[in-house]
Amino acid sequence: MNKVALVTGASRGIGRGCAIKLGSLGYDVAVNYNSNEEEANKVVAEIKKFGVNAIAIKANVGDRADVNAMFRTVVKELGQLDVLVNNAGVVDDAFLLMLNPDSLDRSLNINVKGYFYCAQQATLKMFKAKKGVIINVSSVSSKMALAGQSVYAATKGAINSMTATLAAELAPYGIRVNAIAPGFIATDMVAKLPEDKKAEYIKQIPLGRLGAVEEIADLVAFLASDSAAYITGQVVVIDGGLSL
Ligand code: NAP
Repeated sequence: MNKVALVTGASRGIGRGCAIKLGSLGYDVAVNYNSNEEEANKVVAEIKKFGVNAIAIKANVGDRADVNAMFRTVVKELGQLDVLVNNAGVVDDAFLLMLNPDSLDRSLNINVKGYFYCAQQATLKMFKAKKGVIINVSSVSSKMALAGQSVYAATKGAINSMTATLAAELAPYGIRVNAIAPGFIATDMVAKLPEDKKAEYIKQIPLGRLGAVEEIADLVAFLASDSAAYITGQVVVIDGGLSL
C-alpha cells in the first residue's frame, strides 16, 4: 500500500487496536507509547506479522519537544506520513470541588495540547504531499453530561471544535480531519471505573454492552481510507446508542 500511519497511545486499548488494524490493511505503522515499552514492542511484533514495517516510539504527547522528535523519527524510519491517529488520552474524573490543579493541567496537556502538537507536526509532513488524514479520538462525553467528567468532557469538546476548524483550514491542502466519539469501550480506561458506575452506564446503552476496540478500529480504518474521501470535519459517534 506504501502508506504510513502514526497512532499515538498505541501500546494499549483503542490505539493498539487501530495500529494493528491499519497494519493488517498494509500500512507501515509507528506505535507511540508513553511508558509501556514492553506492550508497545508487542504491538510492533503483532503488526510485523502482516509483512509491513512497524516501529515503537516513546514520546509524551504533552511535551512539544518529544512530539517533534517523534515525527522526525517517523519520517526518518518510515519515509513519510499519510495518517495520524491522535488517540493518546487520559481520564481523571473528579467533582468540581475536588478538582486537583495538577490533574487539570495534565488532562489539558495530554488531551488538548498533545492533539495540537501532533496535528501541527503531521500537517508539516502532509503539506508537501498535498494529502493526508488526521483522525482525532474524542469521546461521547463531549456530547452528553456525565457527572464528574467536566474536565474530560471539556478536553473532548475542544477536540471536536478543533476538528471542524482544522478540517476547513486544511481541506485546500488535501488533508482531511475527522473525529470519532466512542462511548464506553472495553479498555483499561473503562476497567478503572468503579463497578457500580460501569453497571449503571451499561444499563443506559441501548445496544446493552460495551463497545469492542476492534469496532473502533474498523471506523478509524474507514475514515483513513479513500472510501471516506468526501468526509471531513465530522465527529462520528460510535456508542451503541448511549448518547441518543
Ligand atoms: P487506555 O487503555 O488507558 O490507553 C491509553 C494509551 O495512551 C496508552 O497506550 C498510553 O501509553 C497512552 N498514553 C497515555 N498518556 C500518554 C502520553 N502523555 N503520551 C503518549 N501516550 C500516552 O485508553 P483507551 O481507553 O484506549 O483510550 C484511548 C483514547 O480513546 C483516549 O483519547 C480516550 O479519551 C478515548 N476514549 C476512550 C473511551 C473508552 O471507553 N475506553 C471512550 C471514549 C473515548 P502507556 O501504555 O505507555 O501508558
